[in-house]
Amino acid sequence: MTTKYIFFTGGVVSSVGKGVTAAAIGRLLKERGFAVAVQKLDPYINVDPGTMSPYQHGEVYVLDDGAETDLDLGHYERFIDISLNHVCNVTTGQVYAEVIGKERRGDYLGGTIQVIPHITNEIKRRIGLVDKTTGAEIVLVEVGGTVGDIESLPFLEALRQMRSDVGRENTLYIHVTWLPYIGATSELKTKPTQHSVRELRSIGISPDMIVARSDYPIEDGLREKIALFCDVELRAVVPMITTPVLYEVPLLLEDNHVADYLLERLGLEARRQPDWHEWERLVAEVRRSKPVVNVALVGKYVELHDAYMSVREALKHAALALGIEVNINWVHSAELEKGRCWEELEKADGIVVPGGFGSRGIEGKIQAARYAREHKIPYLGLCLGMQLMVIEFARQVLGSEDVNSTEFDRSTKVPVIDLMPDQRAIADMGGTMRLGLYPCQLQPGTRAAEAYHKALVHERHRHRFELNNAYREVLSQAGMSFSGLSPDGKLVEIAELVDHPFMVGTQFHPEFLSRPNRPHPLFVGFLDAVRQRAGLASEPKEAVVERIGQDGHKVSVN
Ligand code: GLN
Repeated sequence: MTTKYIFFTGGVVSSVGKGVTAAAIGRLLKERGFAVAVQKLDPYINVDPGTMSPYQHGEVYVLDDGAETDLDLGHYERFIDISLNHVCNVTTGQVYAEVIGKERRGDYLGGTIQVIPHITNEIKRRIGLVDKTTGAEIVLVEVGGTVGDIESLPFLEALRQMRSDVGRENTLYIHVTWLPYIGATSELKTKPTQHSVRELRSIGISPDMIVARSDYPIEDGLREKIALFCDVELRAVVPMITTPVLYEVPLLLEDNHVADYLLERLGLEARRQPDWHEWERLVAEVRRSKPVVNVALVGKYVELHDAYMSVREALKHAALALGIEVNINWVHSAELEKGRCWEELEKADGIVVPGGFGSRGIEGKIQAARYAREHKIPYLGLCLGMQLMVIEFARQVLGSEDVNSTEFDRSTKVPVIDLMPDQRAIADMGGTMRLGLYPCQLQPGTRAAEAYHKALVHERHRHRFELNNAYREVLSQAGMSFSGLSPDGKLVEIAELVDHPFMVGTQFHPEFLSRPNRPHPLFVGFLDAVRQRAGLASEPKEAVVERIGQDGHKVSVN
């Protein structure tokens, strides 16, 4: 079939859930038997978010092919249960780098390079790569930011042109806006939505659907008003009331018959009836009150929970599978260094140290790892969290506080964590880490192998440093087991402590492969240990746990 495109723009303010809306609509379409993919167009000038501070941008989400992308791609993959590739996140930086590179090569000799058509053509070329590389029949494209931003103009112009390029019947525009609530008069206001639609019109895009996000119920009268002023059909004004259960969004959109309308407008017919059974069960399970476990997440960007979006989601997925509720206590590692916030660790049934870069707050995380080891508290170390667990253990085994990673102390005499050999010659910071999916062989009889139930797994990476093999022998004699190795045996991918209920660290980021219906086995293994420490019985539940296959697809083990 001809590829169909659905474009998402944002109005009024950012952070109203445009990414989740696109992801959820993707799910509605997948449920009807269509192959979908989602692309995010980010108007900033960085080539990718890999070099940005999580404070600026939130988490950097890594794909199978190693692309470092916007965290919205995490929503897309989790909601739709698909694997995306690097063409699914485009930035202004990438577009300009490509066009300027061609100009220098002489590809446009004689021409003046301009935003229209050169930049817009490059944007459209990149949109066109999505169906070619993913096989998607319906491509959803989300533009970052809100209409009215200077930076997003070339992207919106490209989307406008797409309608005449690929045909009116093959394109739809969805505008996601916010209805502010005026407390004094207890009313929701549509005026900002009207203004933002007018702004969109002024650049030549008329929305086919308006998703109106609000913290309060939206009366039909208000929908009628939006339909009238913004010139969209009443059934295409979709109320989106804030829900505490993120995974309920597809169900809310389904209640509003969103997909039926979209398919009708695209001239498509559903290939099968959507089956929401599993989602409904998931949402019901989220809502059910469950016994609570406390997990301390010790990080450096804890003020901004978005910086650890996938870790938080992976914990929630695993908790659901075990019939427990995970309460995350966000602990700033620099506070631990100052002797503060230790009560958070004292009340924790489990400790997670996620990924990170740079030396700030490192010693606090090492102290947290020490606390977990000495008090036998379940510990899960993700990338940096694994490296610090190794440093902590080595300090104790070797009796030296000089043990370190060369990332934090270049001249340490005991570099148990060191730069990977093929990283030594690299000078550029952007896109040069060990990135993406690599195989990991599990060692039988270890906690990791027990959690995965298989011998070979593939996981997503993002790091420059690794465990220094010169220390493997001494560490393993002291009780650290290297339970996951690269197939050639050269690289430690998972380390764990033998004499501990669950102290496991991974050089990779398992959080990126966790899905709501397919929790990641290591997170399940960790939380199961947390549950036991909290003294909670295992709930006899329908087995929900399915493992992630080598190709990233579902493998049932039940
Ligand atoms: N900074 C460490 C490295 O580069 C860990 C990276 C991470 O946690 N993603 O190896």
